[in-house]
Amino acid sequence: MQTKHPFISIVCPCYNEEEVINHFLKSITKILQTSKKTYEIIFIDDGSTDNTLEVLIESKKNYEHIKILKLSRNFGKEIALTAGIDASIGETVVPIDVDLQDPPEIILDFIKKYKEGYHVVVGKRVDRTSDTFAKKFSAEAFYKFHNKISDINIPNNVGDYRLMSRKVVDEIKKLPESQRFMKGIFAWIGFKTATVEYKREVRVAGKTSFNGWKLWNFAIDGITSFSTVPLRIWLYIGVVISALSFIYGSVIIVKTLIFGVDIAGYASMLTVVLFLGGVQLMGIGILGEYIGRIYIESKNRPIYIIENEY
Ligand code: UDP
Ligand code: MG
Repeated sequence: MQTKHPFISIVCPCYNEEEVINHFLKSITKILQTSKKTYEIIFIDDGSTDNTLEVLIESKKNYEHIKILKLSRNFGKEIALTAGIDASIGETVVPIDVDLQDPPEIILDFIKKYKEGYHVVVGKRVDRTSDTFAKKFSAEAFYKFHNKISDINIPNNVGDYRLMSRKVVDEIKKLPESQRFMKGIFAWIGFKTATVEYKREVRVAGKTSFNGWKLWNFAIDGITSFSTVPLRIWLYIGVVISALSFIYGSVIIVKTLIFGVDIAGYASMLTVVLFLGGVQLMGIGILGEYIGRIYIESKNRPIYIIENEY
């Protein structure tokens, strides 16, 4: 009994996940049936190079209410998620990873909170023993730094796993930027939010596609998408360095007047020149990062391309 607009849209980006899709479908449909709500499950094949698409198409034979969007190439999780959210028609939307690291049974708690009147219900990972130390540590450092220098606060240990009302989703769809840091976008939107705690599981199968370098770039995207502090900081660094060099210059002048010229000082000269050179390069690099972003946004390209729908 599928109504035109289901109660819940599950949005699930997949990149080379052929091994886990069936596990995922089995547990998610069980939970959705328990909830007795109408639903749709939207899979986004984010340009997988394995048989993900075939497995997904095959699964339509055994499961109902499945929509598959095939993107024309790998656009990355954030954009795949955006494509899925755009395509969703449910009264509520739940983005979830296909690898079962986000336990589907939490959706029942999400629904309960939604019924209590919350527009957003976020899943908070209270136990991340399944993540490596390096990942936990870098994630924590990132959130601390990000929240210090941004106007919006991204709560630590909160991922994309959440429930959003149609109203919230419609607001998200209005954000036009093509560089989509979804955690930041979710936080920027606001609305009355409830939290449900859960334990982050290990992947059922397959392997993570986020290595150190990808995470580092992800962190830079996050910071530069929601803060201009890295730009402004150069004003202060510049002021401090000019003040210091002014004092230093005055000292040299006074010294020369009193003691005459001395030729020693190549070492200190070189140190100062190199230091300033480094500082300038960093400043230019950060300017470049933002200008690059302006450039990309100004091209106004579509955020993603859907090659096919199934
Ligand atoms: N994913 C995606 N496109 C990508 C990388 C990942 O759609 O380019 C999906 C992936 O299939 C999974 C989710 O994003 O459903 C989370 O990815 P992963 O498990 O690799 O990340 P982790 O859980 O290690 O952060
Ligand atoms: Mg995962």
